[in-house]
Amino acid sequence: MRSNGLIIAIDGPAGAGKSTVARELARRLGYVYVDTGAMYRVVGLLAREQGIDAGNGAQLGELAGRLAIRFEALADGTQRVLVDSRDVTAAIREQEVGEWASRVSTRAEVRERMVAAQREIGGAGGVVLEGRDIGTVVFPDADVKFFLEASAAERGRRRHHQLLGRGEAADLRQIAAEIEGRDRRDQAREHSPLRCAPDALRLDSTGLSAAQVVDEMLRRCRDAERARGARQQKP
Ligand code: C5P
Repeated sequence: MRSNGLIIAIDGPAGAGKSTVARELARRLGYVYVDTGAMYRVVGLLAREQGIDAGNGAQLGELAGRLAIRFEALADGTQRVLVDSRDVTAAIREQEVGEWASRVSTRAEVRERMVAAQREIGGAGGVVLEGRDIGTVVFPDADVKFFLEASAAERGRRRHHQLLGRGEAADLRQIAAEIEGRDRRDQAREHSPLRCAPDALRLDSTGLSAAQVVDEMLRRCRDAERARGARQQKP
C-alpha cells in the first residue's frame, strides 16, 4: 500500500545529471532519495577488495546477498553510504569502482538481490529512485517516470568537472571513452538493459540547468499527486 506518496523513477545513461536532479526533486517533495547506482558501486568495490572475479555470478550474488547497505541523510542534503557500518561514501565514487559496478551489474544474481532491496526501500512510496532500470524492472508501475539524457559531449564534461572538483586527476577524452563504454555495456546487457520505459517522459538536459530540469519534473510530480488525490476522494 502506498500511503506515503508517489514512487518516482529517474533512469538514464551515466553523466546525464540524474543524481543532482533526483536529490533536489526528493528534497522539494519531502521524499526519500535512493541512489541505486551507489548500491551497485558498493558491490563493485567489495568484489574488487575481496578479489572476486567480475564474471563469477555465483560468488557475486552471494556477496550482494550478505551486504547490509544503508543510506544516511546528512544535514547539508548529501548522503553517507554505509556498508556493514563502514563509510564507503568516497571510495565508491572512484572512477575504477564505476567500472567494477558496471561489470558486476551485468550479473542476474547481483541484480536480483539489489532489485529486492530497492523494492523494500521504496515500496511504501514517498521516494525518488535513480538508476538504469527503475521504470522498467524495479517499479514498472511507478507513478511518474523520467528518462534523463544529455549529449555525449556534455556528459563527458560534467563527469570531468565532478572528478576535478573532488581533486582527482582526470583526462576528458579518457572519461568520454569510459562513459561510452559503460553506456554500451548497460544497453547491451542481457538482464535489465538500460531502456526508456514506454510510459516515461524523456528529458534532454543538454544546455539546461539542474534547476530547469527539476522545475519541469516537479510540475509533472505535482500533477500526479493531484490526480492521485482526486482518485482517492472519489466514493
Ligand atoms: O549511476 P552510477 O553511474 O553511479 O552507476 C554505476 C553503475 O551501476 C552503472 O554504470 C550501471 O552499470 C550500474 N547500475 C545498474 N542499474 C542501476 C543503477 C546502476 O546497472 N539501477
